[in-house]
Parts: sequence; structure tokens; C-alpha cells
Amino acid sequence: MNEPVLVLNANYEPLHVCSTRRALGLLVAGKAEMLVNGRGYVRTVRLAIPRPSVIRLGYMVKRPRPRVRLTKREIFRRDNYTCQYCGARLMRLTIDHLVPRHRGGDHSWANLVAACPSCNLRKGGRTVQEAHMSLLRLPREPAPSALYLFAPHLNDNTAWQPYLQGW
Ligand SMILES: [Zn+2]
Repeated sequence: MNEPVLVLNANYEPLHVCSTRRALGLLVAGKAEMLVNGRGYVRTVRLAIPRPSVIRLGYMVKRPRPRVRLTKREIFRRDNYTCQYCGARLMRLTIDHLVPRHRGGDHSWANLVAACPSCNLRKGGRTVQEAHMSLLRLPREPAPSALYLFAPHLNDNTAWQPYLQGW
């Protein structure tokens, strides 16, 4: 009953993942419809209740656009595992602060980029301008697609793929 169920908004936008138990509650209460079964049935003495894999809410949920957590891993992912100075694509990347911390540079999407160890060393404690270096592109907070956000579930739930595309 704890298998994940993809919950879509009334307009089909993927919202979040809930448990089968919670999804069945929404279905029984008439608050959602089942779009994909895919998990067989929950059998009681008299009934066989389909176990949902994807459900859609009957009403619109308003919520802010989801954000990607600012972590080292997500910065590398945003920068396509590529040094943002020389373009080298390697496993052993470091994080560079465009404006160094001791100069007031903050921990933000706009101030952090992936850099290879030699570019990071070359830049040192200077700003990009002072070091006479240039960036491949200006860093900013990534806008996550549904495929990006729900990627960790996709291996076990391939039926979700069409519902995630384009969001
Ligand atoms: Zn480099």
C-alpha cells in the first residue's frame, strides 16, 4: 500500500507523489480519478479495487513553481558536468565562487559554478574580471522540468513517463 502514485493536478500538471493508501482515499472520496492502473487490484471479500499508478485530482491545486535544491550535485548537473571556464567535461569538478566568499560572495545559484581544478586554482581568490577569465554562460537557478524532478522514480514507474513530458 506504500507504492508511489503520481498525482496530477486538474490540468494534468504533475504535482507530487503519494502512497497507494492516500491515492485510494482520494479516489474513494471522489476527489480524484484514476488514469493508470498498472498495479493490479486490492482484493477484499466482495470487491477488487484497482490499484492506481497515476491519478488526477478533480480540482486545481495552486502552488508555487517547485525549486531545485542548491547542492553541489545540482550545480554540477545544471552545468552539465562541464567546467564553466574552459569547457572541460570531467568527473573531478570543483565548485567556484564567482565572487569569492571572503569578498562577500554568497552561496547562491548566481554565484556558484562548476570549475575544473586547474581553472579554480588559476582564478584563486579573485573575481572573474580580476582574473581575466570568462564564463561559458551566466549561472542562474535552473527551472526544473517534471522529468527532472521526478527522474528518481522513473526507473520503477515507466508508465509515468508520458504524464511527465512537456511540464
Ligand atoms: Zn577549466
